[in-house]
Amino acid sequence: MTVNRVWHLANRPTGFPSPGDFDLREEAVPEPGPGQVVVRNEVMSVDPAMRGRMNDVPSYAPPFRLDAPMEGGAVGTVVASASDAVKVGDSVLHGLGWREYSLLDAERVRVVDTAAAPASAYLGVLGMPGLTAYAGLLDVARLRPEETVFVSGAAGAVGSLAGQIARLRGARLVIGSAGSAEKVRYLVDECGFDAAFNYRDGDIRAQLRRLTPDGIDVFFDNVGGEQLEEALFRMNLHGRVAVCGAISQYNTPDRTGIRNLSLLISKRLTLQGFLVMDHWSRREAFTEEMTTWLREDRIKVAETFVDGIDNAVEAFLGMLRGANLGKMIVRLT
Ligand code: NDP
Repeated sequence: MTVNRVWHLANRPTGFPSPGDFDLREEAVPEPGPGQVVVRNEVMSVDPAMRGRMNDVPSYAPPFRLDAPMEGGAVGTVVASASDAVKVGDSVLHGLGWREYSLLDAERVRVVDTAAAPASAYLGVLGMPGLTAYAGLLDVARLRPEETVFVSGAAGAVGSLAGQIARLRGARLVIGSAGSAEKVRYLVDECGFDAAFNYRDGDIRAQLRRLTPDGIDVFFDNVGGEQLEEALFRMNLHGRVAVCGAISQYNTPDRTGIRNLSLLISKRLTLQGFLVMDHWSRREAFTEEMTTWLREDRIKVAETFVDGIDNAVEAFLGMLRGANLGKMIVRLT
């Protein structure tokens, strides 16, 4: 018997999760039934949305069950197949990560070309975070050339791409916020942001006023809370906010209210929340454009790797704390 190690949710966290909320269990590697495949995972994703699925509340994705395996994006190689469509040796992307081996119906996997791009790219720049940045900026916020764009959470998987897409699509000024001096340097020196600031330095209002003298036309918000409130003060008439995430609120039982929503009226602002899953129709256009930018070396990609299934929870908690530059990836092999 080959052993499969699988992360289960042991407790529903209140506030910031702790290692004791998770349990790594051993089971036998499954055998495929008719139409199924077994995938040996090589890389898996840890995402902020997984924190939401640890709460027992109705949402767009069902909560993780207690004492059951968690789920998430992963890429691996098919090691057993009882399907005509997917062969042993195929590299596939699927949604049953948090384990070394996954058993799936063949129609729940997508074959990917790991000769064209590394497996991790399908969890980041060419995957869900990349499409989130693309659709959020272009379809939700409807970026136009010569506009000023502010991206919060700018050094992460989605944010670092959103800022660079803004630049490539003709924004006049691109500003970002992030949680360390090193990240701020990365955004300006590597990713071509015009300026960035460390939100932990305080006085976000003053920092935004200094860096956006002509106001903000488009705000791509990954953070919510204080940064959203302060950005609203800087928004120009008819500005658009793509409400992508609110990570400052995910681990705090006491959520921060936005106290200046009346500015939506006087400035005729649009705040639009969105989910990437409503934008799958854009996948082809996104993949084509992003592949071209990558080939022409016009977009920088950062990935932070943590090795080993044993360290997957550490990677997840690290991502929530800001230990990642770009996409946080767990390497399993
Ligand atoms: P990231 O790679 O950006 O990782 C999360 C980052 O959040 C950390 O690196 C940390 O960076 C930052 N962070 C943590 N706590 C705080 C805080 N209190 N205030 C400000 N920043 C904080 O994750 P993703 O790129 O995967 O996701 C970014 C956002 O996009 C999340 O809010 C996520 O929920 C959302 N999202 C939404 C989707 C949609 O369909 N709408 C799809 C995918 C993601 P730092 O060091 O800068 O603090």
